[in-house]
Amino acid sequence: MADGSNGSGNGAPGVNGRAYPFIDHTFDVVVVGAGGSGLRATLGASEGGLKTACISKVFPTRSHTVAAQGGIAASLGNMSKDDWRWHMYDTVKGSDWLGDQDAIEYLCREAPAAVYELDHYGLPFSRTEDGKIYQRPFGGMTTEFGEGPPAQRTCAAADRTGHAMLHTLYGQSLRHSAEFFIEYFAIDLIMEDGACRGVVALCLEDGTLHRFRAHKTILATGGYGRAYFSCTSAHTCTGDGNGMVLRAGLPLQDMEFVQFHPTGVFGAGVLITEGVRGEGGYLTNSEGERFMERYAPHAKDLASRDVVSRAMTIEIREGRGHGLDKNHMHLHLSHLDPEVIHQRLPGIAESARIFAGVDVTRDPIPVLPTVHYNMGGIPTNYHGEVLNKVNGDPDQTVPGLMALGEAACVSVHGANRLGSNSLIDLVVFGRAAALRCIESIEPNTKHRDLPGDAGELAVYRLDHFRYAEGGTPTAELRLKMQMAMQEDCAVFRTGDVLQNGRDRVEAIWKGTDDIKVTDRSLIWNSDLVETLEYDNLIVQAMVTVQSALNRAESRGAHAREDFPDRDDANWMQHTLAYIDPEKHTVRLDTRPVHNYTLSNDIQYIEPKARVY
Ligand SMILES: Cc1cc2nc3c(=O)[nH]c(=O)nc-3n(C[C@H](O)[C@H](O)[C@H](O)COP(=O)(O)OP(=O)(O)OC[C@H]3O[C@@H](n4cnc5c(N)ncnc54)[C@H](O)[C@@H]3O)c2cc1C
Repeated sequence: MADGSNGSGNGAPGVNGRAYPFIDHTFDVVVVGAGGSGLRATLGASEGGLKTACISKVFPTRSHTVAAQGGIAASLGNMSKDDWRWHMYDTVKGSDWLGDQDAIEYLCREAPAAVYELDHYGLPFSRTEDGKIYQRPFGGMTTEFGEGPPAQRTCAAADRTGHAMLHTLYGQSLRHSAEFFIEYFAIDLIMEDGACRGVVALCLEDGTLHRFRAHKTILATGGYGRAYFSCTSAHTCTGDGNGMVLRAGLPLQDMEFVQFHPTGVFGAGVLITEGVRGEGGYLTNSEGERFMERYAPHAKDLASRDVVSRAMTIEIREGRGHGLDKNHMHLHLSHLDPEVIHQRLPGIAESARIFAGVDVTRDPIPVLPTVHYNMGGIPTNYHGEVLNKVNGDPDQTVPGLMALGEAACVSVHGANRLGSNSLIDLVVFGRAAALRCIESIEPNTKHRDLPGDAGELAVYRLDHFRYAEGGTPTAELRLKMQMAMQEDCAVFRTGDVLQNGRDRVEAIWKGTDDIKVTDRSLIWNSDLVETLEYDNLIVQAMVTVQSALNRAESRGAHAREDFPDRDDANWMQHTLAYIDPEKHTVRLDTRPVHNYTLSNDIQYIEPKARVY
């Protein structure tokens, strides 16, 4: 059939023998996720002649990528001299030497071509006087291997770069033959003998269950910011792909590294882009002091995100916060030319008005560090192939499974991502994954039959939660988890606090056995979908706090007050976390960091102290 559907399959039994017939589909490539990374992979694979499906739980242009504001990093050198090696140096330093340098070389080297490609696809970048793509300074981006002035490297479409990018990529995807399954919720992977054979999804509109068989399944399901109470990401950012991977017995990597963005609007959590500071905005404490000058004399307000977030937290702790409760900081833009605000930061002016009641041309914006990005995720190589540690080999690929974007941990961001390095990660690795699919899948290669029990795990979970008759509503468990993470796994961490957080999260995880779902329907059942999302979140919260408790050093976004120094001798390694969902336990392991580059064009960047 044209849509890849093979008609109805046998179906699988639910908990009580209830039948759930499957509608079967067969594709070369199935991409789960239609954010920037999923769309770039979908576009590339279908352009390369592969029969490609893209599944998304929301309409593609509603993916969280749409909210990205500040921009996308690439060393175009439009504003002043730049070099991909300088970008690489900054990214390695930003990662606090936890990033894999082969992958970082790939990212920074490919970045300019990826931005020009977006330009040619029609992304409406802001322009300089002479018509080149406009680039702004961003935190941690410098020149001359950290010795020169800040780099103007972040390409922007005003303050709505992600919006422009997502619409451009969706439009381009539609030019090819890729098929979209929109408002389909992917539940679980289909695994056979350690290989991925596809994925099971629920059509939210009519309640039908779909079994997608594919040579390659690509998870591009985004981050899991919603494990926390206050975050800048959308309600849909529940890390569903990460949950599927854990349930498939595969590891997640470096989950202890959660980025707090310095400037979420106080109370609402809505993001105020770093681009504001890039354009000359600055932070003050209640004494009117530009305190970042003390913490980062060189980069000041444009130091890396973890550095600024920690400085703000210390200022608040020491009683120099603004407001009655001295609990937030001020971000000033009123000294900027109103024309600059109008041209380059119009969305920020609007967000500040709506969410903080502030006119930015006159008053500062009240801001607070807010959960923003997950450095951790599904371990992959720079082709997007998922890795597992098997018989001591840390870089074994999992046949049939790939991961991209915020769901993945390539790892280019290591312990801390630099602003504007995620959008570029989406398109560079989205393209790389599509190329890998094209070179490894012969078009029209026949598919083996699926194993007899294919899709049973997904149906079992769906049915289990659909009829869950416990005493605790999903929303109650979710809130408890979010508060535990917010309070006990935040900007500053100690062993005692993390242990407390671990115990709280474990109790909530176990408490999931008592979950209560009230709506039994399969059509637009948001109660059920939120329960499946919560079930994904709780295991990620668990491995996050457990990994954080385990890492006895401070590196990047992971700041342990009881272990204030970076410890390269013992900890320059990735954390791997596996779960046992039956026993509610976590097992941790490690993977070495790749301390080599891809080519001789740049040497391994040796670790040193990370000061800005
Ligand atoms: C407010 C904000 C501003 C940002 N600004 C910038 C910036 O200026 N520069 C920068 O570099 N980075 C920025 N970031 C980070 C960056 O935007 C994200 O990391 C990135 O967009 C994530 O893209 P993605 O492709 O991984 O996934 P997303 O864009 O998050 O998309 C996930 C996709 O997966 C689908 N999906 C998820 N679960 C399922 C499921 N179970 N079944 C089916 N489909 C599913 C969703 O429908 C969606 O299509 C910002 C982030 C936020 C929150």
